[in-house]
Amino acid sequence: MIRIATLALLMLAMISCTPGKSTPDRSRSSTGIEELALAHFRPRSTYNIPVTRMERAAFPVTDMHSHDYAKTQEEIDRWVETMERCGIEKTVILSMQTGAGFDEVLKKYAGYPAQFELWCGIDFTGYDTDPRWTEHAVRELERCHQLGAKGVGEMGDKGLGLFYSKPTAAYGLHMDDPALKPIWEKCAELGMPVNIHVAEPIWMYEAMDSTNDGLMNAWEWAVDLSKEGILDHGELMETLDRALAQNPNTTFIACHFANCSYDLNILAGMLDKYPNLMADIAARYAETAPIPRHVRSFYEKYQDRLLYGTDMGMDQEMYRVTFRILESEDEHFYEHEMFGYHWALNGFGLSPGILEKIYQTNASRILNAP
Ligand SMILES: [Zn+2]
Repeated sequence: MIRIATLALLMLAMISCTPGKSTPDRSRSSTGIEELALAHFRPRSTYNIPVTRMERAAFPVTDMHSHDYAKTQEEIDRWVETMERCGIEKTVILSMQTGAGFDEVLKKYAGYPAQFELWCGIDFTGYDTDPRWTEHAVRELERCHQLGAKGVGEMGDKGLGLFYSKPTAAYGLHMDDPALKPIWEKCAELGMPVNIHVAEPIWMYEAMDSTNDGLMNAWEWAVDLSKEGILDHGELMETLDRALAQNPNTTFIACHFANCSYDLNILAGMLDKYPNLMADIAARYAETAPIPRHVRSFYEKYQDRLLYGTDMGMDQEMYRVTFRILESEDEHFYEHEMFGYHWALNGFGLSPGILEKIYQTNASRILNAP
């Protein structure tokens, strides 16, 4: 899950440029460069270069990473209309829920069985008190599967343990915990992939100063490594690596490029080692668009292992920006409101063959697995 940078960030990130000799005031307002907050820096591209307007995706799309954003039936109706306009055939809602919560969300989207697929969470109830809790968790997983859950997710571990599932988090329990093995094995048996969010983008671990490349969002989402028992980025990658090795029959989808957009070699290493690993690209468009040539070669190499996802609400404009980044060769454009970073973005210009796989073929292969 990710929230878009909020106004609070604007108020907080008052990072001024290096003070020095007085600089002539070249800004349009009366604010001098030394007083202009980085959080207020909203450049507009100055280049006269092609701008591609994407109305819909080049191929039918399965969005493998969305959530229960709609508050009412009317919002669900509007969402479906937006999906139709943009070419999104199906949206996977990672509900993270079990029990009554899952039943409710299932009912909520039941009017559109072709457009929405619901995934469930893991019931961690009693994980810290009841030694037989996994038996209950496996039974609840089977029940959700019978009701229509085709996968599990989004699981989430940002260092303190798996905390996304409702109604209960499992602090201290990481992906590779032996207690989870019967659950992952049941997922394999039922053909349910597991969507897992491990760690956070690297700049959320780095010093919050003028050298932090992702400062605009890192500021809001900083990981506090002083918390007792917390694992850092590298340690979390090891938990994922071990979970993949220990459960070769279970398909894991590391969402957000496994939070390795700063160094895709880490993800590449795991994709090379573990055929049971896929990755989704959700909510990491802004984080990859500054390095389009490197990212395109990654897409080319791992075109069978990557899945389209959004994780950013249900607005038409949101979908269109993701298509523009994946499909166009536009350069140096900004989407400040959507992403909150100060970076300029660039399109990857992915080939039709790769787009088709990312948008749907790879998803269909997983969703229709026996
Ligand atoms: Zn998410």
